[in-house]
Amino acid sequence: MGQRRLIVKGVSAAIVIFLMAASVAGTREVSGRQDGSERVVEIPVLNYHMVDNINISLSLAPTQFDEQMRYLYENGYQSINPEQLIDYLKYGKELPNKPVLITFDDGYLDNYTNAYPILKKYGFTATIFLVTSLVGKDPRFMNWDEVREMQQNGFVFGSHTVNHLAITTLAPQQVMNELVESSREMERELGVRPKYFAYPTGAYNRQTAELVRQAGYEAAFTIRYGRAGAESNLYAIERIPIFRSSKTFRSFYYRLTAAPLLERLGIIRN
Ligand SMILES: [Zn+2]
Repeated sequence: MGQRRLIVKGVSAAIVIFLMAASVAGTREVSGRQDGSERVVEIPVLNYHMVDNINISLSLAPTQFDEQMRYLYENGYQSINPEQLIDYLKYGKELPNKPVLITFDDGYLDNYTNAYPILKKYGFTATIFLVTSLVGKDPRFMNWDEVREMQQNGFVFGSHTVNHLAITTLAPQQVMNELVESSREMERELGVRPKYFAYPTGAYNRQTAELVRQAGYEAAFTIRYGRAGAESNLYAIERIPIFRSSKTFRSFYYRLTAAPLLERLGIIRN
């Protein structure tokens, strides 16, 4: 019994030391900036899809999602909105301690029914990227009333196009339609033009990023693995995808705390 506890303690200590080393290594890499500024922050932008009891990798069980939000809450994380992130990346505007940007892609109904109450419980808000052709039309997705209710409670909505096609496969005019029509519909329904965009399937290239900028969006999110920081391209901001797995929490924890280093070492991959 005692020996077993000792082993567990030893393993835990090793993990903690490893993570501390990892975070120091991560900090050193970004803090070598010319201006010598002290507080350089890399922001985790978490990327979720569904929060429901469906056993697929894109869907976390509500209990798993709750566990992760509770971890963030108990460890002092504060959810920020994309505007705060962009103000930090562009102008160095200050962020709260331990900022995290929580995002969802596609706009599933369970974001409203399951994730929203959990986020509220911990005082968090999130940013949700909508596929406008599905809102209020497909019962698996939210409707505009639900979206408006969340918007009134501090949630931010971005565009994820009209039809959820990989825009790198489309002609430039089609891409522009997807970008502009989704923006117009959101503006009609929500009263504000969406400022942020997430690439469906994560597919982007220099040309599509430029079209996103021309369509009037201020920033765009990829599913490229990493944290947002000084080196980030505003039209290709890294995120940390969170999936259901056999070890959902442990994977979440490693990805959140040491993702950049672990990724470089090839220890975790998408
Ligand atoms: Zn999507």
